[in-house]
Amino acid sequence: MSYKAEYIWIDGTEPTAKLRSKTKILADGAEPPVWGFDGSSTGQAEGHASDLVLKPVASYPDPLRGGAHRLVLCEVFTTDDRPHASNTRALLRPPAEKYAAQEPVFGIEQEYTFFDGARPLGFPEGGFPAPQGGYYCGVGADEIFGREIVERHLDNCLAAGLGISGINAEVMPGQWEFQVGPLAPLEVSDQLWVARWLLYRTAEEHGVSATLDPKPAKGDWNGAGAHTNFSTRAMREGYDAIVAACEALGKGDKPAEHIRRYGAGVEARLTGAHETAPWNEYSYGVSDRGASVRIPWQVEVDKKGYIEDRRPNANIDPYVVTRLLVETCCAELEA
Ligand code: ADP
Ligand code: MN
Ligand code: MN
Ligand code: MN
Ligand code: MN
Repeated sequence: MSYKAEYIWIDGTEPTAKLRSKTKILADGAEPPVWGFDGSSTGQAEGHASDLVLKPVASYPDPLRGGAHRLVLCEVFTTDDRPHASNTRALLRPPAEKYAAQEPVFGIEQEYTFFDGARPLGFPEGGFPAPQGGYYCGVGADEIFGREIVERHLDNCLAAGLGISGINAEVMPGQWEFQVGPLAPLEVSDQLWVARWLLYRTAEEHGVSATLDPKPAKGDWNGAGAHTNFSTRAMREGYDAIVAACEALGKGDKPAEHIRRYGAGVEARLTGAHETAPWNEYSYGVSDRGASVRIPWQVEVDKKGYIEDRRPNANIDPYVVTRLLVETCCAELEA
């Protein structure tokens, strides 16, 4: 007897990496071994030295194939056993370990948009739908496009054992959100990448594509973000740490350093309109959806909880964003 292991990895496409996967047949009960692939076909190597190495780092039940089949998330290494330049997970491992005692956790809100060919699902041919207003958390065939896929994706994520915490329809037709977490930095990032893979794979079965494009429709339409909710144990226990984290994110070069790595095209999304703060002005505030970082009202009432960094684009690399937040905030909270 055998099972199918779907090896999933992150490629070297610029400026935003894509997911790749291929299948290996393994003997029943066998651990997924190290494997390889052709890096010259994924933007990760030159043709004359194209072999790259896949090292399994996490595995999940495969909800599409069912049975004993698995999804196997990998890190990419070179043949001389160094993390490949595209392997941002390797950079997150040291700070995740260094600050583990602070128990940092993240809940990431992944917004995305379904496309039917060249236009967002629900946009009429050669025109535009009614303006924004009724779509967010809406109900009914005039407002909701793709719910069948969204429900199937949610079931697939749950069957894979992912820590999905909710879903909702977003502000633009065809735009949706799912949330992963709260989970530790490596876990939330691994699971977000796998949930994205399941999103593309589930939509594929319906002849629809999904995109993390941060500005999928030009004009007066909301962009797509990946609000990143963050706390440490100290923040979950008291308000001083909440304020300290918000202040740490505003110090010196930190705003620019974060923005630069918050997803390709982040300046085009963070205009100051459409529930965003301008990309070049850091701010934080209670309940303020026009701030860079929001302290939810319940957190201000309870005087403890978490903060929401509203700046990250839908197309972020969560290994990078969680690393920056841990390095900036946990270093400050340790001082
Ligand atoms: P919004 O009101 O901004 O749309 P959501 O409900 O979509 O918020 O997402 C909030 C996210 O924050 C969820 O993923 C949730 O699990 C996460 N979260 C809740 N508590 C914490 C916490 N203490 N630390 C980090 N994340 C948290
Ligand atoms: Mn081949
Ligand atoms: Mn949300
Ligand atoms: Mn949202
Ligand atoms: Mn949010």
